[in-house]
Amino acid sequence: MNFTFTEEQQLFADSVRRFALDHLEKDALKRAHGPRFPFDVAQLMSRQGLMGITIGEQDGGQGGSLMDAVIAIEQVAYVCPRSSDVVQFGSFGPIRTFAEYGTPEQKARWLPDLLQGRTVMSLGMTEPEAGSAATDLKTTARPDGSHYILNGTKVFSTFSPDAAIFLIYVRFGPGVGGIGSVIVERGAPGFNIGQPSSFMSGEQWCELHFDNCRVPAQNVLLGPGGFKKQMAGFNVERIGNSARALAFGRYAFNKAREHVATREQFGRPLCEFQGLQWKFADMAIKLEGAQLLLYRAAANADRGFPSAYETAIAKAACNQVGFEVAHESIQAMGATGYSCETLVEYCMRRCRGWMIAGGSVEILKNRIAEHVFDRRFDQRGRHADAAE
Ligand SMILES: Cc1cc2nc3c(=O)[nH]c(=O)nc-3n(C[C@H](O)[C@H](O)[C@H](O)COP(=O)(O)OP(=O)(O)OC[C@H]3O[C@@H](n4cnc5c(N)ncnc54)[C@H](O)[C@@H]3O)c2cc1C
Repeated sequence: MNFTFTEEQQLFADSVRRFALDHLEKDALKRAHGPRFPFDVAQLMSRQGLMGITIGEQDGGQGGSLMDAVIAIEQVAYVCPRSSDVVQFGSFGPIRTFAEYGTPEQKARWLPDLLQGRTVMSLGMTEPEAGSAATDLKTTARPDGSHYILNGTKVFSTFSPDAAIFLIYVRFGPGVGGIGSVIVERGAPGFNIGQPSSFMSGEQWCELHFDNCRVPAQNVLLGPGGFKKQMAGFNVERIGNSARALAFGRYAFNKAREHVATREQFGRPLCEFQGLQWKFADMAIKLEGAQLLLYRAAANADRGFPSAYETAIAKAACNQVGFEVAHESIQAMGATGYSCETLVEYCMRRCRGWMIAGGSVEILKNRIAEHVFDRRFDQRGRHADAAE
């Protein structure tokens, strides 16, 4: 067992850090307060080889491991938190599932623009009546000759105001076995994108309405029975959410540490007060513990998909720790931390979202409890079989 980066990983981390300091640090504050996808950063990262880290070289990616992508997300986030969303998009998001299961024609058509930072993809899974219970989704895909006809509504999709293509979870038939996914292009007939709404983080999302939307059959990514594969791919997305949450917590921690080491009150640096020292000790314990869980899940996955259990435990830990540490960092910095001129308050707002998005902390704990007791706990109660 080894708890340090390999020489190669350290060199990679150093190079990403230098890139971030040279190109991303200057506008970090402005970028964090911008609601839309930073295409300029995506194009810069593409030239730097930071898009498609987890995607095979044959598909235009970098052929790296999940751990490489975690290292990249961390090093970018420590300098410019908002830019780490681009690493998420390019290596962990729906693009990873797409690259795994897409046909050669689908990949040739859409991957180059995505990996070059010219377009962005959004994931449409959640519906007004299907949040945590994702398999309750109602959006239907009905065959019609060489096309499918989609009907339904999706909500909360990240990057939806900017996306050119959407990976939409649909129902081809009843039950979990009837769920699959389809690629829908912006502008498809019957596809209406609502006005942007804002999350607490400042990010925007749009309602997606499918009203007899016609999609060519070649756009099916996973047909009926694809749900399990989609969720396996989704575990990669969860690792990216874990990595960003923890890195945002560490960003806030670093800012707060600098602050209490230099700011004086009562004639002494704040760090000389034990009440603050213990806060930082507690934060360090939390950060280090969650870091090990994250690295375990990522390192064990290598170039494949991570284990559902290791991902659940890492994400629950990283999401909670990221939020708690950012929250405590604000307290340690007083009004300066609460001010929008530092990114500490931004980190707290972003981390709060990941406690809900991509598998809420409660849903992850349900999965962890199933592992603990080595049995399945049906969340639907006695009537579940009838519903599925
Ligand atoms: C920042 C952000 C980004 C998002 N991005 C996307 C995206 O790109 N694409 C997309 O499709 N969706 C996205 N979502 C939506 C997200 O997937 C859902 O918010 C999530 O699945 C929870 O669903 P819900 O909000 O409807 O809450 P609900 O499912 O209504 O849950 C409400 C509360 O009850 C808890 N709860 C529910 N069921 C149980 C249970 N069985 N046991 C214990 N507690 C339970 C939940 O944990 C939660 O705290 C995003 C959400 C956020 C906040």
